Amino acid sequence: MSDQHPRHKTPYAHVLDTIAWTPLIRLNKVTAGIRTPVYGKAEFFNPGGSVKDRIGLPMIERFEAEGKLKPGGTIVEGTSGNTGVGLAIAAALKGYKCIFTMPDKMSQEKVRLLKAFGADVIITPTAVPPEHPDSYTSMAKRIAKETPGAVLADQFYNQANPEAHEATTGPELWEQTDGKITHFVAGAGTGGTITGVARYLKKKNPKIQIVGADPVGSILAEVWRSGGKTMPQGAPYKVEGIGQDKVPGTLDLALVDDFITVSDRDAFTMARRLTREEGLFVGGSAGLIAHAALSVARRVNDPDACVVTVLCDTGERYLSKLFNDEWMRENQLLDAEKVTLGQLLAA
Ligand code: PMP
Repeated sequence: MSDQHPRHKTPYAHVLDTIAWTPLIRLNKVTAGIRTPVYGKAEFFNPGGSVKDRIGLPMIERFEAEGKLKPGGTIVEGTSGNTGVGLAIAAALKGYKCIFTMPDKMSQEKVRLLKAFGADVIITPTAVPPEHPDSYTSMAKRIAKETPGAVLADQFYNQANPEAHEATTGPELWEQTDGKITHFVAGAGTGGTITGVARYLKKKNPKIQIVGADPVGSILAEVWRSGGKTMPQGAPYKVEGIGQDKVPGTLDLALVDDFITVSDRDAFTMARRLTREEGLFVGGSAGLIAHAALSVARRVNDPDACVVTVLCDTGERYLSKLFNDEWMRENQLLDAEKVTLGQLLAA
């Protein structure tokens, strides 16, 4: 490592101090034939393996400052997994208990991971509307209300979430690109990342383009395109952690300049390519956003531009899914494999 990367040279007081300042890494192979440089913000370098480590401590500290969370208290949250890990790391150090509700589409790895941190995990049905009493958000609300000494972290409305990205992710990108970033491409689960980063970058340079990447089936891109005039119905999709069937209070769609919609197949294919061609072992949301970032880079077609994508979490969370050929085939998500003449003759 050169002196350009001064992190880790001295000991840290505790693991929370290692959150953020993740590396920005150039994509070299998946960008073949594209003139615009594309960089990935490698959020899987965070100690909990995802971008959501950034919001765990700030959300908890907000409740402490407001006197809502007291020693021995409980943190409740509806989570696709990664926010749970971010909260659980901070809760471990601070001695809080965690109860998480999670939709049943999320990977088994994530359920086990949250349990490994000592959290109680309650699985809820994915295929119910958000206002249904069994949805993971309704269930979390109910548990928080009924548990003495509990707070609902409420990442979809808690403004400490976008503020954490405005205070950390945004400034890091500005510094790491020496102010040369021209396009920031991100998905929106809570919208905390895209909103916080956009707020910071637009203040630095209003010309920076903020591009949303949305799964087919999510409503966010459509709501943005209609300027909020239509409220479409969502449809199921397999990518985890981004896209929504309702617009969260932590997402400011007015900051987004463009939206690109990406299929599960393209998302997972790109996550597998990032792993095999770039050595970046990432999940499906990172694949989806990178797919969108490459189309931005192709369209911009300018070697002096600088496109940044978010590599949201580690692929280890999806070994039983997108990195499992059988699961991919069962879900008709694997691109037809090239069969050689030799293989055909041998069959
Ligand atoms: N990718 C994954 C895998 C996630 O879990 C999340 C958070 N739900 C995101 C991306 C999106 O981050 P944000 O909530 O900041 O929009």
